[in-house]
Amino acid sequence: MKFAIRSRGDQSSNGLKMKMKNYLQEFDLIWDEEEPDIVITVGGDGTLLYAFHRYKHRLDKTAFVGIHTGHLGFYADWLPEEAEKLVIELAKTPYQIAEYPLLETIIRHIDGGKEVVYLALNESTVKTVDGSLVIDVEIKGERFETFRGDGLCISTPSGSTAYNKALGGAIIHPSLESIQIAEMASINNRVFRTIGSPLILPKHHTCMLKPKEATDLKITIDHKTIVHKDVKSIQCRVANEKIRFARFRPFPFWKRVRDSFVAETWES
Ligand code: NAP
Repeated sequence: MKFAIRSRGDQSSNGLKMKMKNYLQEFDLIWDEEEPDIVITVGGDGTLLYAFHRYKHRLDKTAFVGIHTGHLGFYADWLPEEAEKLVIELAKTPYQIAEYPLLETIIRHIDGGKEVVYLALNESTVKTVDGSLVIDVEIKGERFETFRGDGLCISTPSGSTAYNKALGGAIIHPSLESIQIAEMASINNRVFRTIGSPLILPKHHTCMLKPKEATDLKITIDHKTIVHKDVKSIQCRVANEKIRFARFRPFPFWKRVRDSFVAETWES
């Protein structure tokens, strides 16, 4: 089996990366940064996001597993102390795969140039470079509303615990193939009206965002921000591709949610 390890870059993550690399090679696993069967990340959820983007061209051939060297993560759910156990599992056991949905975002421009397609593991956000975002929201081909405000966040189920949660969005179990649209500070008064609640769309319900006038838009795809000029539309839907996580033990999603957000409060 071929493997790669991506580190957050701090001293303790780099140290653990080197230790695991040597250990895995002792078990005859092959270091291959270009075409790994498995990618181990050492750091946090952010590290796994970067690794996902590094290997998103081969999602059907690569599985991911994350070790956290900071706090418990949603993608990085192995402890540094468990690294040796993980190495042995990787070397000896055929592992199970858990697949999580991804978000596909397609940007089309007024000049009709080539459309740009992005895959996100957490979310895509849409904001203006300057001033309020004014954008028509269409769902499944029907006009739904005109949004006015700071921006919109369209997230995956596994990304629902990230930016989406800070916007008051719901936490969605990753077995539900869906995307969620959450508002960022919408303007609501006698003149302007938006739904106000996060919307959860099932697979194949496409959301189309159409700016009311030509503006430069600041679009984020996970950790990356890209400015697009003269955007005609932004199409969001559940992607056909999925991310595959290597699973060696049960660690239910709701337990991770509890441990990350509420467990300490209960115990104190
Ligand atoms: P960052 O600003 O350095 O870190 C963002 C934080 O989000 C980190 O604590 C990270 O965990 C955590 N995180 C990432 N994915 C998560 C997930 N699926 N569930 C729960 N927490 C998650 O940025 P970054 O490391 O490059 O990550 C980019 C992400 O930051 C974006 O995808 C977006 O979701 C998030 N973000 C959140 C807010 C907000 O909550 N107000 C605002 C902007 C962006 P680790 O410490 O384990 O890496």
